[in-house]
Amino acid sequence: MTNSSDYIMFGLPHIEEDEIQEVVKTLRSGWLGTGPKTAEFEEQIAQFVGAKHGLALNSCTAGLHLSLLACGIGPGDEVITTPLTFSATVNSIIHSGATPVFVDVDFDTANIDPGKIESVITPRTRAIMPVHMYGRPCEMDEILDIAKRHNLYVIEDAAHALGAEYKGRRIGSLSDLTCFSFYVTKNITTGEGGMITTNNTPFAKKIKVSALHGLSKHAWQRYSDRGYDHYEVLLPGFKYNMTDMQASLGLHQMRRIEQNDRRRQEIWDLYSESFKDLPVTTPAPIPPDIKHARHLYTILVDRERSGIDRDAFRQALHQRGIGTGVHFLPVHAHKFYADRFGITASDFPNTEYIGVRTVSLPLSTRLTDSEVSRIVQSVRDIIKQGVIHV
Ligand SMILES: *Cc1c(COP(=O)(O)O)cnc(C)c1O
Repeated sequence: MTNSSDYIMFGLPHIEEDEIQEVVKTLRSGWLGTGPKTAEFEEQIAQFVGAKHGLALNSCTAGLHLSLLACGIGPGDEVITTPLTFSATVNSIIHSGATPVFVDVDFDTANIDPGKIESVITPRTRAIMPVHMYGRPCEMDEILDIAKRHNLYVIEDAAHALGAEYKGRRIGSLSDLTCFSFYVTKNITTGEGGMITTNNTPFAKKIKVSALHGLSKHAWQRYSDRGYDHYEVLLPGFKYNMTDMQASLGLHQMRRIEQNDRRRQEIWDLYSESFKDLPVTTPAPIPPDIKHARHLYTILVDRERSGIDRDAFRQALHQRGIGTGVHFLPVHAHKFYADRFGITASDFPNTEYIGVRTVSLPLSTRLTDSEVSRIVQSVRDIIKQGVIHV
């Protein structure tokens, strides 16, 4: 047992002095809300992913919701997605009024299996919402091809995938709309925050208005030194805007994204090398034509093979002062969704298999070499002890 100050928290954010100073500057500037720094952050992300527009929001969930609405998706429509995802993906579809339709994942990649998508397309299907699990891009050529043939929109849940690349292009520039998250545990963070990237200018204009009450002009345009100007309400919008305090964090987080990516790869490779002789499943190899964003490092653990089940394994790591995550309990494992959509584990065997075995190890760039060694040693010790009763 380690003392609490040694506890390795899962998903520890990596904040440096630059962004702390930027937040302080913003506080002193008097402009805390959506303003010039948010605009600069939008430009920075759009440029990075190679998209025309970046639309900063208070979350990725808000981005998914507004993306669906921008496509005109609502009651009576169906949206195809994966059952191995965070509730936000599914909830955003429900919030739009549409019905989520689930397709099992590929066993190796944990991403939606494109080979199974067409069998669930109906006349009501309007969009596909793939999730780039753990930062590994989905098979976008196949997905975009299906969408084109069936006249469907593609809205990517890229909460894990900032910096990921698919056949030489960054995720964020491939489909109609892509949504990123800057939640505390994500590859870059603004505390809470999200961004939509798109090449579709009419969508971008619509989303900008919907994200802030439906107003024709944003506050920093209304209150600029050119004097007060009237605005008009164009539609009943939402309160989904990002603030300059959040953008102050994001601007500096983005400057370190490639440096952080190298560190994530280093830890990733060390884990894979250290666990290759253990009776656990490590992440599938990554083909040369994609770049994994290395958001989450997951292994599959089960009693039959590893001598300990996933939850006991997590508990044993916790007792050694190491926090872990589960990404994710499948959608069908939540009673609400199971009842509402009539889905069960047997509908999605790969999702179920992964969902009961997956555990995410810490991969924060805040981890020191000695902390990484401690994690490696603990995983090895626990698995080697075989069945442990905790
Ligand atoms: C984190 C996450 C989200 C939600 O992001 P927020 O910014 O917290 O709204 C959506 N989808 C997936 C897969 C996530 O991991």
